[in-house]
Amino acid sequence: MPALFVVMNDLLKKYLNLDRDPFHREEWGHIDLWEFDRAVKGVRVYFTTRSGGVSEHPYRSLNLGFHVGDARERVIRNRELLGGHFGFPPERLTSPRQRHSDVVRELGREQDVGDGADGRESAFSPFDPCDGLVTSMERAPLLLLFADCVPVVVTARSGGRSLVAVIHAGRAGLVAGVVANGVRRLRETAAAELEKLTAAIGPSIGPCCYEVDAAAASAFAARFGSEAVQGRNLDLRLAARRELERAGVGAGDVHLLDICTACDQDFYSYRRDGVTGRQGALAWIE
Ligand SMILES: [Zn+2]
Repeated sequence: MPALFVVMNDLLKKYLNLDRDPFHREEWGHIDLWEFDRAVKGVRVYFTTRSGGVSEHPYRSLNLGFHVGDARERVIRNRELLGGHFGFPPERLTSPRQRHSDVVRELGREQDVGDGADGRESAFSPFDPCDGLVTSMERAPLLLLFADCVPVVVTARSGGRSLVAVIHAGRAGLVAGVVANGVRRLRETAAAELEKLTAAIGPSIGPCCYEVDAAAASAFAARFGSEAVQGRNLDLRLAARRELERAGVGAGDVHLLDICTACDQDFYSYRRDGVTGRQGALAWIE
């Protein structure tokens, strides 16, 4: 390919991916990520894309999920590449098995840090089922996985320390109340009033692409209001926003990174591709 074309192509790509306040796009070598800029003091929040890993089609390339049929050693390498940028060995990424449940648990013990990081099923996991993790521990990164479902990350301060929750909110989890449970678990972990509650809603399937049958659409409208349904298309992000607001996060403190995973080929989409990889929502307290 002519060098000039490559340069023009890169410039065009940059132009098309301008930062979206309060999120900005970061490129580390080949890895592209979105960082959330409004987390509370000392908390880092990132959403990964498909770029920069070693997995091959249909998982190309930064697949972080062990359970989707990709080669285990490639997933471990991808996690090494990701963690390497932050100074974390992949063994410290706590990464529970997700079940579309409403269960949110606290990571509070050093011995549980890194549960799920090797991809092997353990009957002794402290986090199963688990579709959300909360922690106030430092240097204990939480990683949950997505391919259309809504990543919700909530950060807060309490009594001079920071807390973070990472929640996996698909349709079933939203209806079951997983987002509200996440905020409740934050309050329990703090054991005190939460201050400066701030939430990020990450890349997920948009109302443009998420059509369901009429019964599911009307059930969703009954739960989250008619504005969360457009025809038979569900707006999962709006439902997540409503849940966050009901749980006490200020409307102005809920921020949406408006990228549809099914429209944008930079992301994995189960709806679009069926067999595919998983991107991550990654957060930790420094
Ligand atoms: Zn879409």
